[in-house]
Amino acid sequence: MKSILVTGGTGFIGANLCHRLIAEGHRVICLDNNYTGSLDNVADLMSHPNFTFVEHDVIEPWDCEEPLERIYNLACPASPPFYQGARSIFTTKTCVLGALNMLALAKRKGARILQTSTSEVYGEPLVHPQPENYRGNVNPIGIRACYDEGKRCAESLFFDHHRHEGVDIRVIRIFNTYGPYMNPEDGRVVSNFICQALRGEDITIYGEGQQTRSFQYIDDLIEGMVRMMENEQGFIGPVNIGNPGEFTIRQLAELVLSKIPTRSQLVYRPLPSDDPTQRRPDISLAGEKLGWAPTIALSEGLDKTIAYFREAIKAN
Ligand code: UDP
Repeated sequence: MKSILVTGGTGFIGANLCHRLIAEGHRVICLDNNYTGSLDNVADLMSHPNFTFVEHDVIEPWDCEEPLERIYNLACPASPPFYQGARSIFTTKTCVLGALNMLALAKRKGARILQTSTSEVYGEPLVHPQPENYRGNVNPIGIRACYDEGKRCAESLFFDHHRHEGVDIRVIRIFNTYGPYMNPEDGRVVSNFICQALRGEDITIYGEGQQTRSFQYIDDLIEGMVRMMENEQGFIGPVNIGNPGEFTIRQLAELVLSKIPTRSQLVYRPLPSDDPTQRRPDISLAGEKLGWAPTIALSEGLDKTIAYFREAIKAN
């Protein structure tokens, strides 16, 4: 049994992680400001003796009395409509000040800390698929920069704390992920298409739908994340965690439509600026160092996610 802090613990990935860690018998402190997360995602854990929820924003320092052995730093809005616009400065602060505050906590506690970085560090990639040693092509002044550059700065802070402060770090780069506990109003493509089809609304394809993404089911990500945290080979990363199955957005829309009987039609909307044209992880490093590879194909993962959203939409 380990004592584990999960920042961003009520969000989509955080809630899945908290459930897994509690099921494994760990003590879990779940910290969140609930900006994009929701207490509903951890409602079933609230009365568990090993689980504590703390309402806190990682922009502010945080400490606790009890010992901590592991910190998963997930806190950050991750969906473009939520991390951009009026919240963009807050997004960068969350990435950078959040990393600094959690790294300071890790140092005080002697805890190992894992940073959830992102495929967004590769920006509009000129190398395809993307290996970890590709340094990326990010527009530093674009509307995605608050997130992309914030996450890049967080990686730099993690490696400097490792080099100069002796902090035990792990860094993963997460590619597009979907599954239960996503917020139906989150605005990302998988949740949008499924919820639109279930509600009989138009399916909104941005641009011509020829841009690609590689979609990973949440359980595969959680397995990769835990393996990375617990690897004792001193492998600190960064390592890509994603599913290399690559689809155009139009293909995704057609797959969702083939699974949900609906009157929904495909409609085309303007492509947001700096929207990456293509994205696919090279996951050979995760295979070699962690013995990890995804096991759930898109079609199977979509079936599970559709079942989740059917219930989630009914409940609202
Ligand atoms: N997208 C879309 N329709 C939507 C939401 C998103 O066509 O309703 C597109 C979006 O422009 C992008 C891709 O789907 O090209 C993935 O978008 P998402 O916001 O899920 O993730 P990210 O862009 O961060 O990879």
